[in-house]
Amino acid sequence: MKLRLPCMQCFQELGRPTDEMLPVELRDDGLYEATCERGHTTVTAIQEQKYEVLFDLAAMALLDGYPREAIASMAAALERFYEFYVFVLSLEHKVDPNAFAATWKLVDNQSERQFGAYLFASLLYSPNTVPKVIEEEQPLLPGIAKGQTRTWRSFRNAVVHKGYMPSTAECLVYGDLVYRHITELTLELKRSCAESLQRANFAHLSKAHGGGKSVSTMSIPTLLSFVREERPASLAEALKELEKYRTWLHHK
Ligand SMILES: [Zn+2]
Repeated sequence: MKLRLPCMQCFQELGRPTDEMLPVELRDDGLYEATCERGHTTVTAIQEQKYEVLFDLAAMALLDGYPREAIASMAAALERFYEFYVFVLSLEHKVDPNAFAATWKLVDNQSERQFGAYLFASLLYSPNTVPKVIEEEQPLLPGIAKGQTRTWRSFRNAVVHKGYMPSTAECLVYGDLVYRHITELTLELKRSCAESLQRANFAHLSKAHGGGKSVSTMSIPTLLSFVREERPASLAEALKELEKYRTWLHHK
């Protein structure tokens, strides 16, 4: 799967986008270098957070009939979301971004430590409420007794580490749990830490401008985008949206 980007230099020179869309493979750093037909080489930075892109990859895998791959990407999206959540709340508590980055490095290889960071950051945000933990939730599956379903943690581990092959129905139920959880937490941040949320959102773009090349930024739609005002209430509804925008945004 590739992103399709317009040439921003053509856009500037002509005052309108050309018909040419440049296919680029998804990259870990979110920086996309491409050369258009008129010979411009440009670097485009994607504004969206990694967890948003990972969750869209998961949703596309689900639409394409790969629930196993979808679960692996959903689990990764949730972990990266926790990092983002802790970062936003750290900024809210006047933590220096460089100190945050250096401290996060100490827990970078251990997802359980990161989960602990999420729990206590959440408690600082809402001192009288035990944080919501979907890892221990056991969602109901259609036609299956409650005792037969797993917690999100054991389901994810079975898929990622034990080769368990989930059905599409299971993937939809568990994916919905993750989708609603991230949506709920981002809406809370938006309500009470809007400024820190914006700062955290753009922090990764400042790194993109450090390399000496001219970098333009671009925003792409994602299911979990917190910039948008309204979001579908469930994963099933969100998937219908993705069906629409993936045809013009992505290139196979
Ligand atoms: Zn161009």
